[in-house]
Amino acid sequence: MTIRVTVWGENVHEQKNKIVAGIYPLTMHGTIAKALKAAGHDATTVTLQDAEHGLTAEKLAETDVLVWWGHCAHSDVDDAIVERVCDAVWGGMGVIFLHSAHFSKPFKRLMGAPCNLSWREAGERERLWVTSRQHPIAAGLPDHFELEYEEMYGEPFGVPEPLETVFISWFAGGEVFRSGLTYKRGAGNIFYFRPGHETYPTYHDANVQTVISNAVKWAYNPNKRIMNPNHAPNAPVETALEPIVERGPRLHQDGEEGYR
Ligand code: ZN
Repeated sequence: MTIRVTVWGENVHEQKNKIVAGIYPLTMHGTIAKALKAAGHDATTVTLQDAEHGLTAEKLAETDVLVWWGHCAHSDVDDAIVERVCDAVWGGMGVIFLHSAHFSKPFKRLMGAPCNLSWREAGERERLWVTSRQHPIAAGLPDHFELEYEEMYGEPFGVPEPLETVFISWFAGGEVFRSGLTYKRGAGNIFYFRPGHETYPTYHDANVQTVISNAVKWAYNPNKRIMNPNHAPNAPVETALEPIVERGPRLHQDGEEGYR
């Protein structure tokens, strides 16, 4: 079974900044997709600039796992598309949020939290430690690995307590950060992975590519997508599994929609 991955790229830094364009001549999303294809996944790319940001209902329906990289244009993402993405996640689509996607609209919506952190752009060494031994997302990795140049992200990270912490990062300046976190929202598996600042060659790193490929496999949900995960049906007395007699006053009439 080939996993269908859609890599969503904001695609702004690559177009406007010569340093980023030099590091990523294929763009950041293009580089990530190339690595995922080399790992055997069916990866395609879409960008912020595409119609509906490339995330049409049809595209999401044929996406098993969505990968999201955004930074300077989070506010340009249309709220209706954010809801569509969240519906797909609640219905069972996997999603991987990379680096500065911690402040993306869909991540904040799915976390329901500020998602804030401290940061410093100083080309520091980052050392990632595997904190969940034999976790599928850490398969094939050493017990720690280093990225020579990275942006620092520091705790406290304003996210809900995760299901699992797969990696913790240490930075040369002394800060630490929970850099690989798993969540489940509705039927969807979510992974947040910290590294990937645009002015450093992080997505060319073999260990980073391994993590993202492993995360795609982990996040993949083979079950049929739940098409209306927001459905909240009224269950009338006569449909109760055990016979019951209605008692007491009520607000709603039979067949009425509930409030939202
Ligand atoms: Zn960054």
